[in-house]
Amino acid sequence: MSKLEALGKLLSADVLIVGGGIAGLSAAITVKEKKPDLDVLIVEKATTGWSGKADRGGGILAFITPADTPEEFIRYHVHNIGCFLEDQELLREYAHTCNTVLDRLDAWGVKLNKEKDGRWKYVKNPGANLPWGLAGVDLDMCRRLLKRARRLGTRFQDKVTIVDLLKEGERVVGAVGFSIEDGGCYLVRAKATILANGSQNYRVLPMWGAGRGDGIAAAYRAGAQMRNAEFGSFVNMVHAKSREVVFGAEDHMVGARGEDISAKIRPLPQSDICAMSAVGWYQENLDGNGPVRVKTKENLLQIGSEVLFASDLVWDRPNANAFWSRLWEKAKAVEAQDDADMPEIIPGFIGELSPVKVDHDMATTVPGLFAVGDVSYSGSAWTGAVPSPPGRMRGSGLMNAVWSACKGGSSAALYAARLDALPEADHAQASMLKQRMFAPLTRKKGASALDLIRDIQDAITPVRYSNFKSKQRMQEALGLVLKVKDKLAELMAADPHDLARCNEAASMALCAEMFYRAALARTESRGWFVREDYPAVDNANWLKWIILQDKEGEMDISTEDIPIGRYPIKP
Ligand SMILES: Cc1cc2nc3c(=O)[nH]c(=O)nc-3n(C[C@H](O)[C@H](O)[C@H](O)COP(=O)(O)OP(=O)(O)OC[C@H]3O[C@@H](n4cnc5c(N)ncnc54)[C@H](O)[C@@H]3O)c2cc1C
Repeated sequence: MSKLEALGKLLSADVLIVGGGIAGLSAAITVKEKKPDLDVLIVEKATTGWSGKADRGGGILAFITPADTPEEFIRYHVHNIGCFLEDQELLREYAHTCNTVLDRLDAWGVKLNKEKDGRWKYVKNPGANLPWGLAGVDLDMCRRLLKRARRLGTRFQDKVTIVDLLKEGERVVGAVGFSIEDGGCYLVRAKATILANGSQNYRVLPMWGAGRGDGIAAAYRAGAQMRNAEFGSFVNMVHAKSREVVFGAEDHMVGARGEDISAKIRPLPQSDICAMSAVGWYQENLDGNGPVRVKTKENLLQIGSEVLFASDLVWDRPNANAFWSRLWEKAKAVEAQDDADMPEIIPGFIGELSPVKVDHDMATTVPGLFAVGDVSYSGSAWTGAVPSPPGRMRGSGLMNAVWSACKGGSSAALYAARLDALPEADHAQASMLKQRMFAPLTRKKGASALDLIRDIQDAITPVRYSNFKSKQRMQEALGLVLKVKDKLAELMAADPHDLARCNEAASMALCAEMFYRAALARTESRGWFVREDYPAVDNANWLKWIILQDKEGEMDISTEDIPIGRYPIKP
């Protein structure tokens, strides 16, 4: 028996994929299509095919329609969305190849809607002349991908949460986690490991509950670099009573004195909600002009969204119709207590921190480790100065998940195929990781994970901290996060579910720290990033990416110049 086996249940695979959402399943299918002989294992903490965000999303895919061109899209993106912080080379590749996602999904058995002549059925964003269109996919997509992945021979291990990455020297050689059912320790040895376990949403809005940042934290602890962490503060405007998203509310906001707030803060047209919506909401409340309400009858985007999401007038999507109709009926019952024509809205914090840095092959900065989908969306840098998804482009989350998974799946397949044997894992490191992972179960008293998660939410959700930023307020918020960090060593768990919460609390504290440290470093405002004390764009000093990395237990902050001289589009 090898020493590793003595630590827990030992699994192995040529390619280990952490996370069985749309990105993990797409990566598995890609690996098997590219190298059928490779042994692929998905480890998922919930149930593969039913977990993740894709099946509870809008099912909207943003693509370059026959009426658009990739070049128009790139120009629009750099000037209006990413604000020159994009990796323009990767953005160009995305623009020229993202439409293959629709073909692949179709070939893999996912239901998309076509015109009679075989072209993809799409609509354009109402009221804005944007160089992309929206196609619709039904919400059973992950079940269909699961079927495809299974048929190709992918193996699955559900109900196991991965906490850390196994290493041999500098290389990642698998992962370690535990069963959330019986608490058993699981170790997986692998030639290549793909993280596909989503972004950080801090467990605030339930629809975004899958995003708890475990993969971000594991990659960081394994020494991987992070990029663009300062953009992880996405908000939607939501109904104050039901907390349901009110699409387009940002363009029809009125204060208590009846003034048009949107006209002050948001010149039209815009591709999507921007950070100024929450900032404007905050300032009006500070000036005694709250609560802020939305003029429902003028908000054609919400009316259009209800048609798109929950009817068959545009696309034939029975699962999406049923899901969204039920959701909105429930919300309407709660909203009945409010003025239907002028309901109160508040910012609903979503976060979307996705900073694992990857290159054009979706390889992280640690050998053997790849990252695809939401976990590395901002870290890939094709989206620039926005929290992503949706990166001010609704419909890019699913597209990026599949697109990056195909790239990362291919790269990981080639990487694994080059290795003859499974690499050994460092036993001492594995043993230390196991001990750290189970430590909360050994404590008889201490801190509760849910209490610490609430404390992190208090430090990250207020607009004055994470959206309308200032040095003093961010230092205050970081102080709150660091207090939580100090208490992590006291975390106590009664059972495996509680232990999973402890790991999530640790991931959330680390992600919040990354966000504030990176945000304090960027002394300018750009795109989604708004600072009260540095309100202007500073192209002279800040055409840079902020890089975070663990250096002997400290969060090291450095910058990387954007090679703007090499890029075709310059400020
Ligand atoms: C309400 C909502 C609406 C949306 N609408 C749209 C839309 O219309 N169009 C669009 O393009 N995008 C949309 N999105 C975004 C889109 O759904 C995501 O970008 C996409 O699903 C991300 O896929 P992923 O596989 O990378 O991550 P996820 O879907 O988050 O999947 C990650 C998986 O990893 C698992 N996991 C997490 N941690 C661990 C761990 N430690 N160990 C093992 N497994 C783990 C999770 O359980 C999950 O199954 C929406 C999202 C939401 C929440």
